[in-house]
Amino acid sequence: MFAKKIIPFALAASLAFVGTMAMAKQTFVTIGTGGITGVYYPTGGAIANIINGKKDQYGIRASVESTGGSKFNINAIDSKDLDFGIAQADTQYMAYNGKGPWEGKPVSKLRAVFALAPEAVTFVAAEDSGIKSVKDVGGKTINLGDPGSGNRINSMDIFKAVGITPGKDFRDEKLKPADAPRVLQDGRIDGFFYTVGHPNGNIKEATAGKRKVRIIPITEVGTLLKDAPYYSMVEIPMDQYPDATNAKDKVKTVGMLATLVTSADTPEDVVYAITKEVMTNLDQFKKLHPALAGLTKESMLQGLTAPIHPGALKYYKEAGLVK
Ligand code: GLU
Repeated sequence: MFAKKIIPFALAASLAFVGTMAMAKQTFVTIGTGGITGVYYPTGGAIANIINGKKDQYGIRASVESTGGSKFNINAIDSKDLDFGIAQADTQYMAYNGKGPWEGKPVSKLRAVFALAPEAVTFVAAEDSGIKSVKDVGGKTINLGDPGSGNRINSMDIFKAVGITPGKDFRDEKLKPADAPRVLQDGRIDGFFYTVGHPNGNIKEATAGKRKVRIIPITEVGTLLKDAPYYSMVEIPMDQYPDATNAKDKVKTVGMLATLVTSADTPEDVVYAITKEVMTNLDQFKKLHPALAGLTKESMLQGLTAPIHPGALKYYKEAGLVK
């Protein structure tokens, strides 16, 4: 009688223990992205989609947050408010090495995971503003973007290279990218900067309105490319924006790669699982946004200037991608 009661109790207790073990294996991770009309947000969604599809195997539940962009994501990883974030290769380099906005305060725990789609510093200007080059912004109102964005850092670099001072030579706005196309259409700004992968909904929206707009080439960059090894010259695929007034031009500008970053404190098995699942399901991943179409396993190992997280490195070694 006594024993009969004991057995179910012991069983229930051990079941409860197993239950706790299973619950303990659930890992919740947050991925910081960018504005909802950019490429980071759907890219973060694509990463979450791949890893959440394997939650029975890994117990990882990833969720995506819309944020101000690269700078915000890196700082939020540093303060442990985010586990992962997407950040431009230039901001990854500057943050880890304590340069630019991180001068004197390097984010030494920042770790690289993999690279994503290339991005281009995209300067959209109203045709009626008369702007044809970055040198024509005198007296205008230009949105350099969210204080947490990478595009604000890039546009500052570019204006510095041509000797123009934002806030003095022209009025500088700090709008979110999702608001910029509408505010441009309303006539409240003359142009905006967005460092973003192509094609994307934001530039489509900006070019498709009643107010005609063009995409301005950025070629007068002084010594920028020499001083900053993470920048390169790229061409914007204008066939994606047939409504831009210069849709037939070849528009050259400064570009870099987007990258996935994390903290040295993120567990190795979590970073391993995400890296492995994205890389081994690359065809499925690439279909989740047109800007990801050109990704290859090899391109995903470019632009990583912070140390590669050991979890990612474990997969790269296993897959023979690094020695
Ligand atoms: N490159 C932009 C930034 O760091 C974000 C681009 C995007 O959201 O697609 O601010």
